[in-house]
Amino acid sequence: MNEMFQEALPVLKKIEDEGFKAYFVGGCVRDLCLERPIKDIDIATSARPEEIQKIFPKTIPVGIEHGTVIVRHNHVSYEITTFRKEDKYEDYRRPSKVWFVDDLQEDLSRRDFTFNAMAMDTALHLIDHFGGRDDLKLRQIRTVGDPHLRFSEDPLRVMRACRFMSVYDMKIEAETKKAIEKKAPLLKKISTERISIEFIKLLQGVKAGHALEFMKQSTVVEYLPYPLKEQTKEGYLGLEWTKLQTDDQRWAAIILLSQVKDSREFLKSWKLPNGTIKKVQELLAALSVKKWSKIDLYRTGISLALESMTLKSTIEKVNYDQEKDNLHKLASEIPITSLKDLPIDGEEILKIKQKSPGVWLGKLLHEMEEKIVNGDLSTSESVIKDWVKRWEP
Ligand code: ATP
Ligand code: MG
Repeated sequence: MNEMFQEALPVLKKIEDEGFKAYFVGGCVRDLCLERPIKDIDIATSARPEEIQKIFPKTIPVGIEHGTVIVRHNHVSYEITTFRKEDKYEDYRRPSKVWFVDDLQEDLSRRDFTFNAMAMDTALHLIDHFGGRDDLKLRQIRTVGDPHLRFSEDPLRVMRACRFMSVYDMKIEAETKKAIEKKAPLLKKISTERISIEFIKLLQGVKAGHALEFMKQSTVVEYLPYPLKEQTKEGYLGLEWTKLQTDDQRWAAIILLSQVKDSREFLKSWKLPNGTIKKVQELLAALSVKKWSKIDLYRTGISLALESMTLKSTIEKVNYDQEKDNLHKLASEIPITSLKDLPIDGEEILKIKQKSPGVWLGKLLHEMEEKIVNGDLSTSESVIKDWVKRWEP
């Protein structure tokens, strides 16, 4: 028995003791069937949010109007959601209205794919009205009910299907596939942030190349926050995505393979955090360094330089382990990692030179830094002070 399920059981049992129904639902049941690590336990119940708040001493009302309360139990958070159904999505961003219902099956039927619409009771019996288990065995992604309807209701499901394809190495069932081809343009209605979240998960999956190729065939790529149009000849399938170690590397790879001209504009249209945008651009810049000098390496930083090597090796399909070793060696020969490592600071320089701060100071520091990094100036305090005394602009 899975430990996380075991730990959650008292929470479900307590709800049952109060006369309500409670089930494990969604991703955790799917991942349990797939024997994959479980991220978090979601619980569905016939109890209303107020009743859950009465039953448990520690609750956080995260989305009462949608029926969700977080319960803290033994330092673990559980999302407990009242059985509900949703009416037609009007603005594609959130359900225009939710109703609480008394029936688990109705709750399960609003869920996107058959493997996400399974539940498990406290006796650990699987409840599977839509054939999720069989679909997992067939390794196929299939909507609950008419796929055309389900993708029209919430086009984000198009992205979720592609994400599951990549993460779980599954194919998409024929009707569901047809519907994706037809409904892809509706993705334009979905907020960038929600699409980005799914897309990043997709890029982290074991079959990112296959999923991206499918998105190309089904025209989904044309409706992303930044449409991907001109892939390189080898396309997305040619890359071993699992060799990439960070999301920054994955974004850089997408930019390179899609022959994006303005990487900043691309990253901005996905509404990525500024930190990510900066890092990916630095990574792309580091990629174009032909031969690393000490000062280049110092300014870029060893970790980014190594990351760019990983990216380069994945894209070019060339082993750069030797070059990575060389980078490590070169880095070990650089005596400082920043000016802070020096026994002298700006204030002391001002004292030595008996001058007020100005452009000259920046110039001096820059020159001193370069000399030290290149090994042309020692890091000993007296030697540096001497050099500062003699320095002239
Ligand atoms: P993850 O592994 O990323 O947590 P997940 O399937 O659990 O994947 P969540 O966003 O946590 O995704 O959603 C929990 C459950 O809610 C899903 O398993 C599914 O049953 C349902 N769900 C989520 N998003 C949708 C959607 N857009 N349409 C219908 N049902 C959804
Ligand atoms: Mg989840």
